[in-house]
Amino acid sequence: MNVEPRFNSQALPPLVVMTDLDGTLLDHHTYSYAPAMPVLARLKAAGIPLILNTSKTAAELEALRKELKNADPYVVENGSALFVPTDYFGKEMESTAQKSGNRMHVLGALRAEILTVIQKIRTDEKFLFTGFADMEVSEVIAHTSLSETDALLATTREFSEPLIWQDSAHQLLNFEALIANHGLRLLKGGRFVHVIGACDKGKCLHWLRERFTDSCGARPTFVALGDSQNDVAMLNAADTAVIVRSPQHEPLVLEKRSSTIITEEIGPQGWANALTQILDETLT
Ligand SMILES: [Mg+2]
Repeated sequence: MNVEPRFNSQALPPLVVMTDLDGTLLDHHTYSYAPAMPVLARLKAAGIPLILNTSKTAAELEALRKELKNADPYVVENGSALFVPTDYFGKEMESTAQKSGNRMHVLGALRAEILTVIQKIRTDEKFLFTGFADMEVSEVIAHTSLSETDALLATTREFSEPLIWQDSAHQLLNFEALIANHGLRLLKGGRFVHVIGACDKGKCLHWLRERFTDSCGARPTFVALGDSQNDVAMLNAADTAVIVRSPQHEPLVLEKRSSTIITEEIGPQGWANALTQILDETLT
């Protein structure tokens, strides 16, 4: 019988890898991860959990997780909710809901609440922006270059609202201050400004690190990889941070820290090169 190595809830994995998708594991333009495939196989063979941590929705992630045969926990909508396969850590987690074979832990806000707040503020203050809730699927396609199926999935948001900001930078600061009164915040991603609850990708790393530590009896080493501003909290929370170079902007600047890699290559090629270096040093 061919049993694939997977995370064993009793044993400390050599590393835990947490990664952003768009512009990091996936090419910013084509969404391809082809250059990363040998490294993905290497992680699996070594029993290293690969935790996808993305601005995408749970529905959007489903096909990719199947394709990657990924059975590890994952994080959606910029840290808004964590999904952990049932029995992954060998015991049920408290304060989580059951959802299609996973335990769901919500750290952010529900989208319906977010829309109520930002639509009222737009009416009152005359801000200029277009959110997914205002767009036809054809407009989502135009802004993302996604296929129609994938664009429909992208609109199935549960915990955040992506906006195209069409007003001044100064007005964006005013908007940010007004939504903060409602416990909401802004995150700038590769394409959109996201309105989300009081959560970020880094809080999810901390939350999962505690679960792994409980389960394995020792604290695992986390490597995180990201390319954009919405990855900074996750990168700062990791033991080793990999800043994947972007064709869109200068590399991120992190807190002063001992272990940071800035890739030479962009997107999945940079992702693969950095992890190859880390795996070569870790797996002897
Ligand atoms: Mg990204």
